[in-house]
Amino acid sequence: MGLNYRELGLRVGLEIHRQLDTRTKLFCDCPTEPRTTGRTVEFVRRLREAQSELGEVDPAARFEMRRARTIVYRADLGSVCLVEMDEEPPHELNREALRIALTFAAMVGARPVDEIQVMRKIVIDGSNTTGFQRTCIVAVGGSVRVGSKVVPIQTITLEEDAARLIEQRDGQVVYDLSRLGIPLIEVSTAPVIEDPREAYEVALAIGRLLRATGKVKRGIGTVRQDLNVSIAGSGLVEVKGVQELEDLPRVIEYEVRRLLHLERVRSELRSRGVRAESVSSEKVRDLTHVFSSSRSRLVSNALSKGWRVMGVRLPGFAGLLGGGDVRLGRELSEYARAWGGVEGILHSDELPGYGITQEEVAAVRRELSCGEGDAFVLVLGPERRCLDALGAVIERASLAVEVIPDETRAARPDGTTSYLRPRPGSARMYPETDVPFVRVSRDLLEEVMRSLPRPLEERAEELMRTYGLSRQLAWELIDGEVVEEFLSLVQTGVAPSFIASLLTEVMKDLRRQGVPVENVGVGAVRRYLELVAQGRTAKESARDVLAYLAGHPGSTVEEALKALGLEAPPLDEVERVVDELVREVLPRLSGRDPFGPIMGELMKRYRGRVDGAVLSRVLRERLARAGTSGGSA
Ligand SMILES: [Zn+2]
Repeated sequence: MGLNYRELGLRVGLEIHRQLDTRTKLFCDCPTEPRTTGRTVEFVRRLREAQSELGEVDPAARFEMRRARTIVYRADLGSVCLVEMDEEPPHELNREALRIALTFAAMVGARPVDEIQVMRKIVIDGSNTTGFQRTCIVAVGGSVRVGSKVVPIQTITLEEDAARLIEQRDGQVVYDLSRLGIPLIEVSTAPVIEDPREAYEVALAIGRLLRATGKVKRGIGTVRQDLNVSIAGSGLVEVKGVQELEDLPRVIEYEVRRLLHLERVRSELRSRGVRAESVSSEKVRDLTHVFSSSRSRLVSNALSKGWRVMGVRLPGFAGLLGGGDVRLGRELSEYARAWGGVEGILHSDELPGYGITQEEVAAVRRELSCGEGDAFVLVLGPERRCLDALGAVIERASLAVEVIPDETRAARPDGTTSYLRPRPGSARMYPETDVPFVRVSRDLLEEVMRSLPRPLEERAEELMRTYGLSRQLAWELIDGEVVEEFLSLVQTGVAPSFIASLLTEVMKDLRRQGVPVENVGVGAVRRYLELVAQGRTAKESARDVLAYLAGHPGSTVEEALKALGLEAPPLDEVERVVDELVREVLPRLSGRDPFGPIMGELMKRYRGRVDGAVLSRVLRERLARAGTSGGSA
């Protein structure tokens, strides 16, 4: 990309969230592993006007309130009780979770607080039945070291995980409650990270320390990275929900490009003499009549539903809405979607287009009194939505003249981000009076210090020593969180380094190619390795077999081998072929070692079906029987 991040004044802080593997949830006795009883509960809530007890309304809360919605909660009664349903006050803070957080605090040299006060943090997107998330600071300070850099930790916090969104339809969202209340540890670093790669390294280091406690959950959805990003002169952008560690640099690079683009737009608007007040005084106009006989499918579909076409002028914005993957048009569209619930916007930099003609564009410009330097934005939808959407567009456009706004954004799987809501203000937190203070006693701290976990370096050394793995493979097992699987699979007798690379490199590679490897359970891998150990297929078939199993959930390893033609022939058939080759080749070699040439022939014939080690063993036996030594090695 060639961006000089230090020159740009990039500052990144990380918030690493990780589910703790405790027996019960943070404020009740429900299990943290989902339990299915078949008895379920379902209830409906409406978002209520939430005010903090300090009397102010938070901007993020106001945002959610404008999108009045019905919320449906569902759960299996094996995983929830009255606490998650907000029908019973929370129980005491989970002591097992507290001990884990204190352990991590000790590992990074953080200072535990004397007394833990649980707070309520307003979250009214419906993901909490109470309208807030319970959270408490356990320790402050400490640091992690990455290379020569020391990254200060700001806070170590325990909080409740939210309910899981399972469906989002017009005006209604559905949440599954079983995840609500699972303890999360949140580790926040100071905003001192100066380039995207460094963010990855810091997150990896924190992740390794968390894993070393041995008490964090693993797998998809158990870890989430949030980050705050700014460059010199920009507002603070918070990006939520980066799932994969490897995506962090990409997301940061994208944000920097976005901020730089917005900065360029801002200075261009200023040099054109555009003023924020003149943007915010623009009026929304109903332009439906302009399109009454439009041949645009997009427009005529909308009109047939009784929708309106409404528009607004953006004075001085001509040519500034389009661009590459970062563009002001996209920002405006995200605001229109978030605040108005419309599907998006159409703007003058991309029209004529979408079946909208030059004549229609000219008519719109006339109606909106657009001069040459002016741009316009159109939305399609029911009147109320159009008004809300264009109101948000006007607000965002007038901001573009003055600042790069503080925002909360969501990470998307493609490494870009999208607008989520305004950043919450300080009115967001207030004390949870239903949970008593917890005094962090000297005894508890001493007990934590006495049972600090072994560093992961020792774990890596042990894997290298016991199983002859390379350092890289050992760390890949640890970072990939598949050490347990590895230890159970080495019992099949297949070479440990083969199993390790299967669980790490091969799986990662397949995932990168879009193969849904999460469909392959450890049971299937074990069965495959057993068949390899029995000589019923060769190690070389691994990639194809795993890909097949991923693409055909429910089929067995045996079926995969048959379908792929990778089943080994019966051993006696192999032996017969070896015998034939020995008889044929031996006389032609006049005393030279026959092992290499015959082995080459066998591999050609059986690659991917019969393991090289089996071929070599059979060949040695047969050569010995035929009275030659059968090679060196
Ligand atoms: Zn519960």
